[in-house]
Amino acid sequence: MNKLAVFPGSFDPITRGHESVILRALPLFDTILVAVGSNSEKHGYFPIERRIEWLRKVFAGEPKIRVESYSGLTIDYCRKVGAAYILRGLRTAADFDFERGIGLMNRAMMPELETVFLLSSPEYSALNSSIVREIHRNGGDISVFVPEILNGLMT
Ligand code: ADP
Repeated sequence: MNKLAVFPGSFDPITRGHESVILRALPLFDTILVAVGSNSEKHGYFPIERRIEWLRKVFAGEPKIRVESYSGLTIDYCRKVGAAYILRGLRTAADFDFERGIGLMNRAMMPELETVFLLSSPEYSALNSSIVREIHRNGGDISVFVPEILNGLMT
């Protein structure tokens, strides 16, 4: 059986925290599909095409990782691609509360889909994309927060 997990998110932009969770989850699944949600009400800071291009660059050497975009409900996307797992990262108690709500709602709608959580590595537990965007917007250096291979690309 092909164990397929969807890792949904905005990845606006991808950080070392995302990268770490995805790489640590790799031994658990046959394929991880990093799914960039495109929400018509939420435009995002970086264009979705660039976010996808960066993710593909970061994971180019890893055949078990694919990157796609999706719109609509995450469970509908999981059904469409045949995923049995959703992967999410947990940094804080606030993440837990938020994820618990979404996870239980998803479970009510699609009981056969399991949400799998990995705790964030301590060094990344304060790292989030919105802070990285704020630093970028104000002309700061974001290189220590984003995967090394992207340094200099996020102009
Ligand atoms: P969303 O738009 O759903 O908030 P994000 O793109 O911010 O998604 O994050 C996608 C997933 O990555 C979420 O499960 C989030 O908890 C996890 N994540 C984000 N930053 C980190 C981090 N620094 N360490 C571990 N997991 C993280």
